[in-house]
Amino acid sequence: MNDAQLLRYSRHILLDEIGIEGQQKLLDAHALVIGAGGLGSPAAMYLASAGVGHLTLVDNDDVDLTNLQRQIAHTTERVGQPKAESARLTLQQINPEIAITALVERVDDARLAELVAAADVVLDCTDNFATRHAVNRACVAAHTPLVSGAVIRFDGQISVFDPRSGAQPCYSCLFPQDQKFEDVACSTMGVFAPLVGVVGAMQAAEALKLLMGVGGSLAGRLMMLDGLYMEWTSIAVGRNDACPVCAAQSR
Ligand SMILES: [Zn+2]
Repeated sequence: MNDAQLLRYSRHILLDEIGIEGQQKLLDAHALVIGAGGLGSPAAMYLASAGVGHLTLVDNDDVDLTNLQRQIAHTTERVGQPKAESARLTLQQINPEIAITALVERVDDARLAELVAAADVVLDCTDNFATRHAVNRACVAAHTPLVSGAVIRFDGQISVFDPRSGAQPCYSCLFPQDQKFEDVACSTMGVFAPLVGVVGAMQAAEALKLLMGVGGSLAGRLMMLDGLYMEWTSIAVGRNDACPVCAAQSR
């Protein structure tokens, strides 16, 4: 690290649990953020400001006026531009020293496998079950930790699925792929703006800790937030031994 970097990251370096060694791990790390919307905006902004050396952002959508109430990486003047590109501009302004790859594409299983294999941690900031399951399958196959967040209306949830430990559940252990979950979209249900900030920032916190190997993660726990009364509930989640995604993986 040069002098400017030592200053930029000094408040991290001051933390005994992080120090120069932990900060260097962040600088050497590659995080994949899937979705540059309500969750992806704050998550990616904190990963960028904290100095994750390489960020890949994936989103095939364009910035819409209805996004700006909560998707804080975007601006009014960038309405109509691809979200991944818009977010890249914001992140680069926060931290010009990191590498940011913006991918304006809808990713299929093969592409996800490729992207996940190249990342040290994956943040699922998407809003539909099909993509969530595809991301989970790719993370289990590549043994890459997954930080999953979701927010709708006044409700949020977050967990970590860490396939590096054979004892931990994957996303499909909790939400089986063959079970019919209604995709509840923000466009029809609404979403309370700051909740995506709360959950997105927590996703960044979990990802940073995983990258540095400090503290403990949310693996094996699902945290649920009732934002209307600001109450958190934490439940233990176990592995489904019959899970078609992770049960076949080595223990
Ligand atoms: Zn599973």
